[in-house]
Amino acid sequence: MSPFDAGTFASLADVVGPRNCLRTPEDIAPYATDWRRAVGVAPVAVLRPADTAQVAEAVRRCVQGGLAIVPAGGRTGLAGGAVALAGGPPAVVLSLERMNRIRSVDARDFSIVAEAGCVVQSVQAAAIAVDRLFPIMWGAQGSAMIGGMLGTNAGGIRTIRWGNARELVLGLEVVLPDGRVLDDLRRVRKDNSGYALRHLFIGAEGTLGVITAAAMRLVPPMRAVETAFVAVPSPDAALSLLSRAMGAGAEVVAFELAKRICLETVARYGPQLRIPLPLESPWYVMVELAAPHAAVPVRAMMEAMLSEGLEAGELTDAVLAENEGQRAAFWRIREDYPEFSRMAGPAISTDTAVPVSAVPEFLRRAEAALAARWPEGEMVAIGHAGDGNIHLGLKAPEGVTREAWVARAGEADMVVNEIAVSLGGSFSAEHGIGVSKLHAMQALKDPLAIEVMRGLKRTLDPRGLMNPGKVLPAN
Ligand SMILES: Cc1cc2nc3c(=O)[nH]c(=O)nc-3n(C[C@H](O)[C@H](O)[C@H](O)COP(=O)(O)OP(=O)(O)OC[C@H]3O[C@@H](n4cnc5c(N)ncnc54)[C@H](O)[C@@H]3O)c2cc1C
Repeated sequence: MSPFDAGTFASLADVVGPRNCLRTPEDIAPYATDWRRAVGVAPVAVLRPADTAQVAEAVRRCVQGGLAIVPAGGRTGLAGGAVALAGGPPAVVLSLERMNRIRSVDARDFSIVAEAGCVVQSVQAAAIAVDRLFPIMWGAQGSAMIGGMLGTNAGGIRTIRWGNARELVLGLEVVLPDGRVLDDLRRVRKDNSGYALRHLFIGAEGTLGVITAAAMRLVPPMRAVETAFVAVPSPDAALSLLSRAMGAGAEVVAFELAKRICLETVARYGPQLRIPLPLESPWYVMVELAAPHAAVPVRAMMEAMLSEGLEAGELTDAVLAENEGQRAAFWRIREDYPEFSRMAGPAISTDTAVPVSAVPEFLRRAEAALAARWPEGEMVAIGHAGDGNIHLGLKAPEGVTREAWVARAGEADMVVNEIAVSLGGSFSAEHGIGVSKLHAMQALKDPLAIEVMRGLKRTLDPRGLMNPGKVLPAN
């Protein structure tokens, strides 16, 4: 039995239309979980507004009725942020999926205005259609949406060149927790008219308001692109190769590092994906160089860089993608890894970042600390080494259940997080806090920073109904 009177739902159904106010358990079930299968509670309803005015009115009525609001996009978030929680006020999931219009694309401005429910890949396609590039790229781009991308300030493979999602945003349209619409879809690069409010909502994981649309930057398309799959003897060698790549003459648009076990996992669970080199090296790198003009000799630059690296002992083998199909196949290895790692069994995972120069030290210290406490586990490590963001995990031995591994090695994440922080890094590089990193937030975030965040939250959301229980640890 729902604790709400029929009038509450009738009123919400009036706003979004009865077919977009989902109430039955079967309709609601998909929205009660996410890609990670994070478990919360089923929301009391799922609302699927069609436009900003509907979002604003729905938020107003939810707040009047004391309902919490959990904004949701593609539900590919890895921190459990888009799932309603037990213990708080009853919640509706506000899915932005029907707000999927590209409002404008301007090739001369190098800008695009997209609604929050646009799938990231559709924004990439809209940019390509006007001969521009929307440069953000990661494995879940075919499902993740612009609102979720900005709610988490997603990073991905090309952060090394174009930054996190935040760095692409020119302006935002946001429905505040009181239902007012903050309309700041300015498409200008320069605007110093006071506080940059948009940055408050980016990475706030829906705790300060609902992003309904964003004006974002596009960049010139890369017309000469070369991708290499490289065997390297160590993370130190990989970093020397990164320095070399930075001076190769073209843009370094990706630089990914993977421990061999990660590629063995891909080979085991994704036999359709061919690993381009024998799995004999302890570490591998995927590096992409690119330039916006086809005449730039990126191939020659890549070859020179790799042969100098070989001579210097920074790599032991390398293969270049020969065509677009091969290039895409190389990236599938990296992008599909999270799915295969899920199949490979339980692991305690992390999302850390350290200064790029500290990556080798970080990996050394983490491996030693994990092996000392949990010798039966195996360290996995894959990540965006070019920006210092390594996804390090402790994989359970074969046959151990998730529950048993969490009971045994659940503290492994904090061991790794503490090492990252001690090296001047972060325990949450790109996935956000959601609920899964609240304990790290409590233990490792500067208490003053948390106090300031709580003050902002109180100011914007005095009733605490915007995605409660996420990001900020309980007082
Ligand atoms: C296979 C795989 C690979 C991934 N690789 C990467 C990677 O390389 N880099 C990376 O950064 N992430 C990665 N992710 C994580 C995930 O894809 C990103 O966090 C993504 O940005 C989430 O988008 P979404 O639409 O699925 O958001 P959701 O999961 O629906 O929501 C995420 C958070 O944003 C909030 N939110 C959603 N919509 C709005 C809105 N309109 N307004 C305000 N808040 C909102 C939600 O409440 C929630 O807190 C990966 C995920 C998967 C499954």
